[in-house]
Amino acid sequence: MVVLSCDPNDLEGSMRLIEELTCNAGRIQEEVLQEILERNSGTEYLQGFLRGRSSSEQFKKQVPVVDYDRVKPYIDRLANGEPSQIISTEPILELLTSSGTSGGKPKMMPSTAEELDRKTFFYNILIPVMNRYVEGLEEGKSMYLLFVKPEINTPSGLPARPVLTSYYKSRHFRNRPFNRFNVYTSPDEAILCSDSKQSMFCQLLCGLVQRNDVLRVGAVFASAFLRTVKFLEEHWRELCANIRAGQISDWITDGPCREAISSRVLARPNPALADLIEAECGREAWEGIVRRLWPRTKYVDVIVTGSMAQYIPLLEFYGGGLPLVSTMYGSSECYLGINLRPLDRPADVSYTLLPNMAHFEFLQVVDDRTDADVECTCDLKVVDLVDVEVGCYYELVVTTFTGETSLSLGLYRYRVGDILKVTGFQNAAPQFRFVHRRNVVLSVDSDKTNEEDLLRAVTRAKHLLEPLGWLLTEYSSYADSASIPGHYVLFWELRTTVGSSDNDGVPLDSAVMENCCAAVEASLDAVYRRCRNRDRSVGPLEIRVVRAGAFDALMDYCVSRGSSVNQYKTPRCIKSPEAIRLLDEVVVGRFFSRKVPFWDPCDPSSSS
Ligand code: AMP
Repeated sequence: MVVLSCDPNDLEGSMRLIEELTCNAGRIQEEVLQEILERNSGTEYLQGFLRGRSSSEQFKKQVPVVDYDRVKPYIDRLANGEPSQIISTEPILELLTSSGTSGGKPKMMPSTAEELDRKTFFYNILIPVMNRYVEGLEEGKSMYLLFVKPEINTPSGLPARPVLTSYYKSRHFRNRPFNRFNVYTSPDEAILCSDSKQSMFCQLLCGLVQRNDVLRVGAVFASAFLRTVKFLEEHWRELCANIRAGQISDWITDGPCREAISSRVLARPNPALADLIEAECGREAWEGIVRRLWPRTKYVDVIVTGSMAQYIPLLEFYGGGLPLVSTMYGSSECYLGINLRPLDRPADVSYTLLPNMAHFEFLQVVDDRTDADVECTCDLKVVDLVDVEVGCYYELVVTTFTGETSLSLGLYRYRVGDILKVTGFQNAAPQFRFVHRRNVVLSVDSDKTNEEDLLRAVTRAKHLLEPLGWLLTEYSSYADSASIPGHYVLFWELRTTVGSSDNDGVPLDSAVMENCCAAVEASLDAVYRRCRNRDRSVGPLEIRVVRAGAFDALMDYCVSRGSSVNQYKTPRCIKSPEAIRLLDEVVVGRFFSRKVPFWDPCDPSSSS
């Protein structure tokens, strides 16, 4: 299948294309697989299973479903200089580093030039979908805060960089629709500045100067957007001074970025605008600041599904109730699905996987948690895209055009690690709610807590703080096995909804915090409560409140170890002793649950 093209200006044509893709999902998937096999059946990886044959039946029968550890040796060979034919017949241009890790290092996925065309198609088709729901977007600008990360060169000479950095550095991004009409507030030079602090400062400056033109604001993930709001909180005086003087701060030393801002954005002093922004930012409460600073904004374009859901209250607080729109679901392996009803509430968001992007299969998981135990894939039921059933949970398995996993076991039938729930169909194409990432668990005894369980429990507990004027802004956890029995430790960063933005020196109410610990435990699953209640094999849950900024430091640490700013997601469980130490050093209060959680001995789901 050739890479499809989509003219984002053609609303009707684009809608027809979506209709064709969703009506013919089964046939398109078959064609995609056939093409991948025809191209790649001679590669070392597929040869081993298919012996030169390229039928899809053989493929599904002979080629195993694998995860990254089986692919890694091939990727390592590629990174170290073997020709790309071991994986794919398309020359590999680069390695994309994913936010997932293997053995503490980022995973790497090979990518080709053609993949950039496919991504361009994907981004283009998002535009008419949005235009269909929100009128007049073409009459103003978009303040999208996008960032790149410095890349590394592997011994083979192939660059290794995050998928978004790869895209932003491509001509596809530079030539994106409407770019030449300056409909984005950030010049490419500011986005491409590899110093994230300079980049953030400059992009905010541009957004503020053009505030009256801005019709939407956003970033890729909610966390990056909020990080920028926080940066604004710390730098608005300096930003206003720049606007007042019509001159950019001396510490912005990135040449192209400085030049672009000075010549195209800060062409003249604008004291009136500086006064106005200072008046807004100088108010004690920052509630609704996004709406106040960018008064024509219609929505916030950020992903708030999956682990990003925890940022919704804070986004609502700063956004003053602006709709939060999650437009897409993608990964380093390939771009996956789009949200065809972008104005749905975040909790209702489903993504429709586009059948032309890759070949998709689905490993059935018995419910949304048994996946963690699944290691052997031989007996697992794998179904095609059009055969999934509404209400069922699946782990996503992809076979991509680049054959990323193909080296030995590859990006052929590769487990992305995401658990999805089928919520319905758009014509023949299923729609999925993102549930969680596989294997993100806390475990002390036979209990197993996944990311979604933790989010649910934390969400319930944090409501106890809200009447007292506190918001939970970040959290993470680890299973502390240094004591006997081990126990769950949650790190919480809090901020007040009024006045000072940090929690230093504010006396935290022990009784309330202890109730929060108990509320988390009460919301965890029956096995956990059995371990705590009957077995006493898990100790009382602990909340450690950390100083404001602790999670920024954690992010900086992760970024210094290879994560990218755009793709960074706060790890909900941390395993690295250094990361735990980093948070431990800024703990301002420790609280333990004082109640043993209720457990029903008749509950079958807790027996073992
Ligand atoms: P990376 O390969 O580092 O870009 O990370 C990709 C992963 O981010 C996916 O496999 C998902 O786990 C997560 N992700 C991406 N898009 C979304 C989304 N819209 N909602 C929830 N999680 C997402």
